[in-house]
Amino acid sequence: MQKYYLLSALLLVVLFPSMAQKDYFFPDETFSPSIPSPEDYFGYPIGDWHTRYDLMISYFEKLAESSDRASLEVIGYTNQRRPIVVFTISNPANIQNLEGIRTQHLRLVDPSLALPDVSKMPAIVNLAYSVHGNEPSTTEAAILTAYWLVASESDKAKNIRENAVVLIDPAINPDGRDRHSNWVNMHKSFPAVADPLDREHNEIWPSGRVNHYWFDLNRDWLPLAQVELQTKIKWYHSWYPNVVGDFHEMGTNSTYFFEPTKPFGSENPIIPRKNYEEINNKFAGYFAKALDDLGSLYWTKEVFDNSYPGYGSTYPDIQGGLGLVFEQGSSRGHVQSSQRGDITFAFTIRNQLATSMATLEAAVNEREYMHRYLREYFETAITEAGKDKSKAYVFGDEYDESRNRLFLKLLLDHKIKVFENQKDLSSEGKSFKKGKSWIVPTSQPQYRMVRTMFEKVTTFSDSVFYDASSWTMALAYGIPYSSQSAAAGGNEILALPELDLNFPELGKYVAYLADWSDYFAPKLLHQLQEAGVHVETTAVPFTSNTNQGAKEFPAGSLIIPTGFQKLNPEELRAAVQKAADGSSQHIWATTTGFSAKGIDLGSNNVSAVTVPKVLMLIGQGTSQYEAGEIWHLMDTKVGMPMSKVDVSLFGRINLFDFTTLILPSGNYNALTSGQINHLKDWLSKGGTLISLRSASQWLQSQEIVKEEYLTVDAEKEPDLLSFANQRNYQGAKNIGGSIYLANLDTSHPLGYGYRSNEIPVYRNSTIFFKPSKIKYQTPVRYTANPLLGGYISDSNLEKIKSSASVFVSEVGSGRVIHFIDNPNFRGTWFGTNKLFFNAIFFGNKM
Ligand SMILES: [Zn+2]
Repeated sequence: MQKYYLLSALLLVVLFPSMAQKDYFFPDETFSPSIPSPEDYFGYPIGDWHTRYDLMISYFEKLAESSDRASLEVIGYTNQRRPIVVFTISNPANIQNLEGIRTQHLRLVDPSLALPDVSKMPAIVNLAYSVHGNEPSTTEAAILTAYWLVASESDKAKNIRENAVVLIDPAINPDGRDRHSNWVNMHKSFPAVADPLDREHNEIWPSGRVNHYWFDLNRDWLPLAQVELQTKIKWYHSWYPNVVGDFHEMGTNSTYFFEPTKPFGSENPIIPRKNYEEINNKFAGYFAKALDDLGSLYWTKEVFDNSYPGYGSTYPDIQGGLGLVFEQGSSRGHVQSSQRGDITFAFTIRNQLATSMATLEAAVNEREYMHRYLREYFETAITEAGKDKSKAYVFGDEYDESRNRLFLKLLLDHKIKVFENQKDLSSEGKSFKKGKSWIVPTSQPQYRMVRTMFEKVTTFSDSVFYDASSWTMALAYGIPYSSQSAAAGGNEILALPELDLNFPELGKYVAYLADWSDYFAPKLLHQLQEAGVHVETTAVPFTSNTNQGAKEFPAGSLIIPTGFQKLNPEELRAAVQKAADGSSQHIWATTTGFSAKGIDLGSNNVSAVTVPKVLMLIGQGTSQYEAGEIWHLMDTKVGMPMSKVDVSLFGRINLFDFTTLILPSGNYNALTSGQINHLKDWLSKGGTLISLRSASQWLQSQEIVKEEYLTVDAEKEPDLLSFANQRNYQGAKNIGGSIYLANLDTSHPLGYGYRSNEIPVYRNSTIFFKPSKIKYQTPVRYTANPLLGGYISDSNLEKIKSSASVFVSEVGSGRVIHFIDNPNFRGTWFGTNKLFFNAIFFGNKM
């Protein structure tokens, strides 16, 4: 250890920054003089500053302009309008023939086509950096890798250009990358300050890790909730790379990590063993040598998880390639002290450059092998499907066209083949209607993705999870589905079916009607209210004779009376039609308030929907993920403006200007007693407070609500543990993220729009509340046997049974709606989003 300390101190302090960029990063290279180096172009050596994204893009443009070995393609734009780019490097002949190379490569992923001559095909390598924007050595290494590969005249670079198409994605998260770069650049001192407590090394909320909507993009490869990954995955399937490098940073005191990851426990059981046991070890040798040559230490086979398909290093493994995660101990800033001395930014960049170059070398040396593996992967998918007792899955929600379409889109985006269901069928107690349900056969090249979408997994080889242990997307979407023993579908679905909205003809109507069952019904309601339309809702079902015949409207359905409006009939009709188009909703109309069955339209069970005015507290101490999920939901699914206000500004808020306050998980201890009294006053006079997870614990600690935690009888704790076992013991008690079945009261305003009284929910916390003391105020409660998928310890499973998932505390004439699970998790829990919409629009009805 002492010896290493001396060595690394020598490397860090002596070699940099006293030596110029070329000597530090490329001591033995000859570069083409006609191509500007990053230092020439930026005016500073890489490592001196965090390079701004626009500057980097202009450098890539310059490289592509200066050389026939490279091209730059803009494939999309982020939320903040930064271009999402792919920088391609190969030899000039390959660059001229990219389309030919691409189409030939794609033959490998279709087992029905003859295998092309793989000996002549270049390796397709995607190097992807900065999915976490505050892991900055990665993008700087992308710049150096691009420069080296374009400009170096070495045999090594030449060989790679000849035998590979290198696709560099310099930042998967450009918006977060610039947020962090600006932070560290604006706090840089002269000379640099290494003290970990210096402001440069401590970002404020939200961190650069996340994108515009505060999402972790390294969880989004499966859900595709964000534009960056929607763009990336579309592009990904146009290439199916053989190798994908996914570059990260970790804590400053850590060294370097590369794969293989921890055997079995952090592996995805549906990925072929060959990937883990053979290919990863083949590649690891290259990374070890590259870092050994620099005297940089590293570790493998520990800690990092590689099981969740939404990671950038796992998704490629489920697409026949090799996904590789790299983690460098961060300087987070320009230099930071660590247990091994000062870590400079340049030092971290050099390690990432070394493994980037090693990835290219390995991919080229193993290219024939990797091509054959890509073909074999999709061939074995078909043979494995043959052994699966599920021959197909049928899915579809009879009442929710929008959610069906969202799920269909997800399947198509992941290249899963879907077919029409040609007959009504019932299976496992669910019914699937022709035209409103679809068939997914298991026997198809994307068989393993089909399993990822539908299969529930409850047995694991480990009990410690870095992240989620369950990701069954059909459950997240809340889509009814069932396994089938035979596959019989009609035409293949190649694009989303057209919507037939069928707006009522001109007529003398008493009311327009809309069903709340559709996912985008809240968007309709918001657009109507925005247009000044008075909207009512029913607390009980009724059947109305409409322009399209008798139709049942369940609780929560919207009634737009043509009387009682500020708009005249023509204006009203235009406003309703515009909102219906804008939200893709069906509208019915009736000429009579007298219902065919159930209550009439003038019943006391029908009441006006108040226009919600919503405020969410955010900032230091609150969960940026949860807050971001809510912001994203309101923007992209409802289109409704919502004030997001920093907790530190609470003293300036008049809560009486708002109907609804949202508290994401977090710590609100900064609120003064006067501010808490204002909150209590507003609540008792009718406010609606929506509280998520640990925010409910804070409300309980302040006695704003007086509910009860669930504890079980003294658990069997071991008397003694070995010191080495502590992590496993603690880890097993966590709930990293798993899926449960809960009962839903569809007569409660929170249950409006749901047709089933069972609902899958997502949990990643160990907060257990008893049901509300008021008997009818626990609309969502765990069943007695709730586990659907994922890992949970036996004692936690005991606690969770029959506990509350969503419940309401009454406070004076106001109420607190507690979400103990996360209904908006990762922008992908479409099945539980409506609970949250109901809390916003119907909060004052419960
Ligand atoms: Zn990371």
